[in-house]
Parts: sequence; C-alpha cells; structure tokens
Amino acid sequence: ATQSEEKDLVIIGGGVAGYVAAIKAGQEGLKVACIEKRGTLGGTCLNVGCIPSKSLLNNSHLYHQILHDSKHRGIEVGEVKLNLQQLMKAKETSVTGLTKGVEFLLKKNGVEYIKGTGSFQDEHTVKVELNDGGETTVTGKNILIATGSEVTPFPGLTIDEKTVISSTGAIALEKVPEKLLVIGGGIIGLEMASVWSRLGSKVTVVEYLDQIGGPGMDTEVAKGIQKILKKQGIAFKTGTKVVSGDKTGDEVKVQVEAAKGGKEETLDAEVVLVAIGRRPYTGGLGLENIGLETDERGRVIIDSEYRTKIPHIRCVGDATFGPMLAHKAEEEAVAVVEYIKKGYGHVNYGCIPSVMYTFPEVAWVGQSEQDLKKNNIPYRIGTFPFSANSRAKTNLDTEGFVKILADPETDRLLGIHIIGPNAGEMIAEGTLALEYGASSEDVARTCHAHPTLSEAFKEAAMATHAKAIHF
Ligand code: FAD
Ligand code: NAD
Repeated sequence: ATQSEEKDLVIIGGGVAGYVAAIKAGQEGLKVACIEKRGTLGGTCLNVGCIPSKSLLNNSHLYHQILHDSKHRGIEVGEVKLNLQQLMKAKETSVTGLTKGVEFLLKKNGVEYIKGTGSFQDEHTVKVELNDGGETTVTGKNILIATGSEVTPFPGLTIDEKTVISSTGAIALEKVPEKLLVIGGGIIGLEMASVWSRLGSKVTVVEYLDQIGGPGMDTEVAKGIQKILKKQGIAFKTGTKVVSGDKTGDEVKVQVEAAKGGKEETLDAEVVLVAIGRRPYTGGLGLENIGLETDERGRVIIDSEYRTKIPHIRCVGDATFGPMLAHKAEEEAVAVVEYIKKGYGHVNYGCIPSVMYTFPEVAWVGQSEQDLKKNNIPYRIGTFPFSANSRAKTNLDTEGFVKILADPETDRLLGIHIIGPNAGEMIAEGTLALEYGASSEDVARTCHAHPTLSEAFKEAAMATHAKAIHF
C-alpha cells in the first residue's frame, strides 16, 4: 500500500456535495483529495439523477409536443418515430460531457482525485480500495463525508432494474413498457411517469398520501398539477398504499389498499417503478471504526457547523439532514469549506427552492399554505393565472398559476408557488426576493419585461396587497 502526503481536507464521495467542496477547497488554497468509487464524478445527480432525468424529460416533451401539440400551431409533420436508443444516447452525451467537465475542474483546482472506495481506518486516516486494484491510505487534518444516498427498497420487491426498477432503471429502459406502475407519487415518481407516459406507456401512480408531489408541495398546487397530469393520460390512485408485491416471470403484481384501511385491490404491470424515497448511504464507510453513529433514518449526525462528534470530521449533502436536493448539497459544500478555512459559513434553509420538471413545471420556495396554517402564521394570498399572461397566451401554454403568500402586517414574502411552463427558471426570482426579505410590494414595483412569463410573478405580487392589472 502507498500513502500520499497529508491533506488539509479529504473528501469521501465525489457527488455534488463532494466535488463542489473539493473545488471550493482548492480555490481556498487547501490541499485536497477527493475519493470516488463510481469511476466518474458528479454522483447520483450527474450520473443517474438530475441530469439524465432532465435530458429524458426535455426530449420526451419535444416528442410528445410534435405528436400532439403541433398541428394547431401550424406545424404539420410527416411520420414521427421514436428512436429510444438515440434518446438514451443523447442523455449519455449530456452526462459524459458534464462528468468529464467536473474532472477537469478538480484538476484545474489542484485536487487529487482518487478512484476507489474509502473507509475510516482511524480518525485521521481513510483507507482506499482502489478501483484498479490495490489499496492506499490518505490522511487528512479534516475529513468530509459526502457519500450521498440510495433508493429506499420496497420490502418483497427486489429491484432488478428491468421489471422492478428504481430511478436508475427508469432512465435506462430498453423499450417502452406497455404498462408502468409507479409506487410513490413524489418527485421521482411524477417525473418518470411523465417521461414514459409521453413515450407511450399506460402509467398508473399509486400514492399513499391524499396528495401527490412528495413532502413540501402546497396542497392547492398538488391538486392543480394532478389534474393537469391526469389530462395528459397518467392515472392516479391517491390515498392508496402499496402493501406487497410479487414478480412471476415477466409480470409483476402489486397489492394495494386504501391508506385508511379497507378496500384491497391487485394491480398488474409490465414494469414497476419503486419511488418511495431515498435514504442516506454510509455503507462500508467504517463509521463504527471511529465510533460515529447515524440516527434512526441513517443520517450522519452533525451540528450546525456540519461537525460530527469528532469535530474535524464533517458531513454534508444527502448523507445527512435536510432535503435531498443537489443545490442544497452544493450550498452546504461551500459553507462547510468556509467553516474549515475561515470559521464561519452560512446556508439559509428557509430559502431552498424545489422544482419538479414535469410539463408544466412546478416550483416553490418558502412555506406552503398548509405549513402556515399548521404553525398558526397569518398570511395573505395573491394569485395570477397564466391564462391571463400575454406570453403564456402567445405560446399557447396557459396552464398553471403563480401563488404568493405574504405576511398581512409587514407584507414580507412567506412563500412562492408556481405551476407553469418555465416555473423552474421563474422561481429563481422568487428565491432572490425571499432571500433579500422582500415584500410583495417590492416585487410588484419592480419593472418586468413584457411579454414575459415572469410578469405573472409581478402580477401575483400585486394581487397579494392590491389588485392585479390583467385579471
Ligand atoms: P451523491 O450525489 O449520491 O454522491 C455521493 C457519491 O459518493 C456517489 O457518487 C457515491 O458513489 C460516492 N460514495 C459513496 N460512498 C463512498 C465511499 N465509501 N468511497 C468513495 N465514494 C463513495 N436533485 C435536484 O436538486 N434536482 C433534480 O432535478 C434532481 N433529480 C434527481 C433525479 C433522480 C432520479 C434522483 C435519484 C435524484 C435527483 N436529485 C435531484 C437529487 C440529487 O441527485 C441529490 O440530492 C444529490 O446527488 C446529492 O448529492 P451528494 O453529493 O450528497 O450525494
Ligand atoms: P419522495 O419522498 O419525494 O416521494 C415518495 C412518495 O412515495 C411519497 O409521496 C410517499 O408518500 C410515497 N410512498 C411511500 N411509501 C408508499 C407506499 N407503500 N405506497 C404508496 N406510496 C408510498 O421520494 P422520491 O420521489 O423517491 O425522491 C427521492 C428524493 O430525490 C427526494 O428527496 C427528492 O427531492 C429527490 N429528487 C428531486 C428531484 C428534483 O428536484 N426535481 C427529482 C428527483 C428526485
């Protein structure tokens, strides 16, 4: 075994959390090593998450639009054919371009990239089983755990990524399944349901709760997007729990029952997607070798400066508390390096946007109406529908609305919720306003270009404390 020189920071995991921390630490002049076992950098997000799913969402939307939403726009096309292999190739091109780009950035910032599996030997030493064989050790003054998350399995349904799939199988199917059953109507469930429904599958989503969209989505928004997705052909069984499932030959059968008990039913499908959430991943890391523990949900326990009970060992991203989102991991990665280098850092957890990349997109930041009600916080609502927005009308994409929640006394923004064709981009403005502590009047008095979708945001802000002009 070889051993490299002592580093200021050793990072285990080269996902968004790990690679961003590595780049930031390199920029701060720290000596850094980043250990990643996958063979490519970027973690779940770049390899099997955000990026490949968005490639499939974008291109399946184009396909669906050409097929079903082009004639009335004055575009007549001949025979439209799906080339699934090419669709997947386009996805791989995006993924490879980005993961290679990250590798370049590590090099540029002087980070030593070690391809292998890291585990704690002691409090300062990480043993690495190298992907190419052999092992090495690397010691660090500081160590960052950035090992991410994995899919939560469904008991009794073994994932084979062909018939019973996780999101990883769902971004790589070799043919369009006739019938796809999705267990879990959270973000993964709905994004993947959209992709395969657009490509021709008959999709049913079974969701335990009464509303789709996973944790955090405003109930009015969840109801609105469910209606829209239903119109697109996706069937929903909400308030329904999958209790068991079994696979025989090429078919999977799944037993469901009403969440509140009672009515049972058996559903069958060619492919079943398990999308009931993700859980932190710390397997094989050897936390027990240094006496570190995880909580009941597998999360590495940290304090507000991302320190475990061994202060020079910290953790950020999906492996610890908070929403499992790439941009949350990224914010934490920068903050944790600032804590190490300067002793202070900051992430505003009240101001992390969420986006679901269906069509139309759903995006929100801050509190939902049900959050505010639950916490007895008074609020005022302003809404504006895209059917009254000139750009949406011009584009013939008028589904959805902007909903703003503000404090009735101070007018300070509390939450922003959007269903709309470009909601994922539009929410950036809402996030900035919330971060700066803006009032709805601040937004309403800010000039927005015409004709743009973002005028709907301005008008919803107007409606929050006064009246919108166009509705
Ligand atoms: P990960 O990205 O999981 O990275 C951890 C890395 O550590 C992995 O590459 C793993 O191989 C490596 N590792 C683990 N253990 C070891 C070890 N012992 N030694 C060496 N290496 C190790 N989020 C969004 O914000 N937007 C989206 O659109 C979005 N879409 C998603 C779509 C899907 C299908 C999925 C599954 C997730 C999506 N997410 C999205 C969530 C996002 O991918 C995660 O929040 C993000 O990847 C978390 O980053 P991380 O670095 O903490 O963990
Ligand atoms: P999720 O927690 O968002 O949703 C899982 C859903 O499954 C929940 O609504 C839950 O009620 C339901 N469920 C659980 N058990 C069930 C059962 N037995 N029967 C029926 N329904 C059941 O999890 P996910 O959609 O798997 O996503 C995992 C993580 O990945 C999330 O943290 C998400 O934020 C992240 N992600 C983000 C994006 C994005 O930002 N666009 C995209 C994909 C994934």
